[in-house]
Amino acid sequence: MSLTFDVLGRDGTARRGRIKTAHGTIETPAFMPVGTAGTVKAMMPASVATTGAEIVLGNTFHLMLRPGAERVATLGGLHKFMNWPGPILTDSGGFQVMSLSDLRKITEEGVAFRSHIDGARLTLTPERSIEIQHLLDADITMSFDECTTWPVAEDAAAQSMRLSMRWAEMGKRAFTERPGYGLFGIVQGSIFPKLRAESVKALADIGFDGYAVGGLAVGEGQDRMFETLDFTLPQMPQDRPRYLMGVGRPADIVGAVKRGIDMFDCVMPTRAGRTAQAFTRRGELNLRNARHRDDPRPIDEHCDCPACHDHSRAYLHHLIRSEEILGAMLLTWHNLHYYQDIMRGLRGAIEQGALGDWTAAFEKEQELGDVPPL
Ligand SMILES: [Zn+2]
Repeated sequence: MSLTFDVLGRDGTARRGRIKTAHGTIETPAFMPVGTAGTVKAMMPASVATTGAEIVLGNTFHLMLRPGAERVATLGGLHKFMNWPGPILTDSGGFQVMSLSDLRKITEEGVAFRSHIDGARLTLTPERSIEIQHLLDADITMSFDECTTWPVAEDAAAQSMRLSMRWAEMGKRAFTERPGYGLFGIVQGSIFPKLRAESVKALADIGFDGYAVGGLAVGEGQDRMFETLDFTLPQMPQDRPRYLMGVGRPADIVGAVKRGIDMFDCVMPTRAGRTAQAFTRRGELNLRNARHRDDPRPIDEHCDCPACHDHSRAYLHHLIRSEEILGAMLLTWHNLHYYQDIMRGLRGAIEQGALGDWTAAFEKEQELGDVPPL
């Protein structure tokens, strides 16, 4: 039953694993591109797969409002609707609904809010969130939770976390177990060790197919995020996948893999691709910058994505300055390809017991900065 997870190898606290779902296998550590509204923005599904991504993320909140979960179900589920045959993880809608600070009201039962699309009054409860994710046919369903704000006092963080734990239990009861499908719980508790420990225990007592660390990458900074992982991860179940939500920049991912995280999602590579930012082995660069105007070289001569293989910095700069759609498409492709390159590198390094050397080389290259101008 459920989905399976095997730890194939370890290097220190880092894990090399494999998740088997109803729609295919995910090699971990894995990065999941974000497909908010049933599309990874500016990418064709087959192109997303070409980068090496094996699973994409869909957003419950956006899809419930438009086109509607029942409609997606009638049309054969999200895999068929968006033509992504591989695994899909859906978030619970909690993060987006909470961010509608003027438009929502939180109660024990869930969150009442107004649609930003047509103003309709709606309610999202833990049970409805699970039902929507079922209708979407998500391989991995996330528990409905409150993403604790930052900064937050310990007593407020405790109240928020305990509400999420009650919602997690309600969601678990509403979840229909099927072979190859799983439900993940989300550890909350902000940066407070006692609260994180309490949250891990509450979730482990309920029992989930995987465990996410939520409430990080909300402004606390990399040091506090790593500290929180350092005291939280050793307490989490060893035999289940661990997912760090909403993270992050390449260095965040490398540091979190080292600490034992198996899965990531972040809008950063796709969003940056639409704002002229490229992530590379040698740090970040902005193709809008005039220094690229006459540069015939690729973004990265070692990258074999279409943006780097077929096009110059000068051309990409021109596309961006001209606000041509192809500029966003090529940069998104490059960024996703680079993120998957990092994941391939991390998986290989863990397999070979060489994560320390790999990480040192990664950091050294990042510190070099972009190639000097011609
Ligand atoms: Zn590239």
